[in-house]
Amino acid sequence: MINIAIDGPSGAGKSSLAKQLAQELGYLYVDTGAMYRAIGLYAVRRGADPKNGEQVEPLLPEIQLDIRLVEGTQHIYLNGEDVSTDIRAEKIGMAASGVSAIPAVRQFLLDTQRDLARANNVLMDGRDIGTVILPHAQVKIFLTASDTARAQRRYKELVEKGQTPDYEQVLADIRQRDYQDSHRAVAPLRQAEDAVLVDTSHLNLEESLEALKAVIREKVGQA
Ligand code: C5P
Repeated sequence: MINIAIDGPSGAGKSSLAKQLAQELGYLYVDTGAMYRAIGLYAVRRGADPKNGEQVEPLLPEIQLDIRLVEGTQHIYLNGEDVSTDIRAEKIGMAASGVSAIPAVRQFLLDTQRDLARANNVLMDGRDIGTVILPHAQVKIFLTASDTARAQRRYKELVEKGQTPDYEQVLADIRQRDYQDSHRAVAPLRQAEDAVLVDTSHLNLEESLEALKAVIREKVGQA
């Protein structure tokens, strides 16, 4: 099986690019952030503090996650309920970042993620795919962009959704999430030694896609 790992901070364009690439390659796209978000959502719904391992860990046995393709797009189910939309709220992104620092949560998701990669050609995106989950992936990419470029994109997205975001707040949230993700003790966000760095600060979506394809082509001759 061919495994492509794409890691990087939030807002670098990982999921839109990964989704499109996976479709073009005919690979299964696995959005691991969605799994952490679903756990964050469950913790919030149950009134637990997402950062508190003692509160979150006992909830894990109650959680059943499924990933299913519905008309070509990936949907995530939490105990049978499609939560693909609910997990996208800003608050749940922060909750995901909280639960993702709990070792038992990472362990809980590790096997699911590895099993998917064993059974399919996958393009998996996350924070620790190249470093921890799939250390033998044939292609590893670290996709990043400056925090201001990412905040501008996020701001635009929110405006397009009809919201009235505060740019400074969007930037502050991105910085806080970056800090939390790269300073946690378990599986912090970092570039794998053998990953290729792609910086999209000055690239649009098509240019970013081309940059990723060039890396994949060089490593596995496809794309
Ligand atoms: O990528 P996304 O923003 O959906 O991820 C939500 C949060 O889940 C991230 O801020 C990060 O803390 C966590 N995450 C992680 N490891 C992954 C994917 C996501 O810790 N492989």
